[in-house]
Amino acid sequence: MSADQARNESRLLSEIEAKQLLHKAGIPVTRTVLATTEEEAIDQAGQIGYPVVLKIVSPDISHKSDVGGVKVGLEDAGAVSAAYNEILVNVQKAEPDASITGIAVQQMAPAGTEVIVGMTTDPQFGPVVMFGLGGIMVEILKDVSFRVVPVEERDATQMIDEIQGKAILDGVRGQPPADKAAIIDAILKVSEFVTRNPDVRELDLNPMLVYREGAIAVDARIIISD
Ligand code: ADP
Ligand code: MG
Repeated sequence: MSADQARNESRLLSEIEAKQLLHKAGIPVTRTVLATTEEEAIDQAGQIGYPVVLKIVSPDISHKSDVGGVKVGLEDAGAVSAAYNEILVNVQKAEPDASITGIAVQQMAPAGTEVIVGMTTDPQFGPVVMFGLGGIMVEILKDVSFRVVPVEERDATQMIDEIQGKAILDGVRGQPPADKAAIIDAILKVSEFVTRNPDVRELDLNPMLVYREGAIAVDARIIISD
């Protein structure tokens, strides 16, 4: 099989497409729209309300911050213009061959506890949902829990209890406790979503920010089989 054929077997949806599907599935996501010019980005930022976040949208880039493709905390039109151009320059330098769809303009979510809710397809068990704490907890410590889809509320509750770092969710060092019901709800909705959409091969809400009340996914990635 040629490399091209292999690539055709699965498709990475854009963050914008992924968030639209997740929003329809009842999962809270940051409002996100596509801009293809600097003026459009400024206009959309004004409609969304400051502060905003800008990110590269490219089918060839799945780790956007690695290539300088994410700018957070933009407070006004000037910051949006600068970020728009900086992102394009950064990406051009890091990935000169990447095809660029545009720039995503999105609502900036307030700081919260970062968690990951995801789904992968296990060769043996089929679709499994995954939960972990964001950042180094997942990337370095591999502190995650898994369940085979579909999951029930009891499974989702256990998934949260199983991770080593679960105390972080109870609030430490002056940080507020995280809304576990909102995490459970997201896990259940991801499970329902992938059950209804068997062509979804991989899904990540990475990260989802969790608050004393509520939670919101600020990044989303979906891979579907063609
Ligand atoms: P990557 O493709 O590198 O994973 P992300 O979209 O996850 O890019 O952005 C990197 C980081 O920027 C996130 O982990 C989060 O901390 C922050 N971030 C991204 N989008 C938002 C947003 N809309 N509101 C607040 N913080 C955000
Ligand atoms: Mg991310």
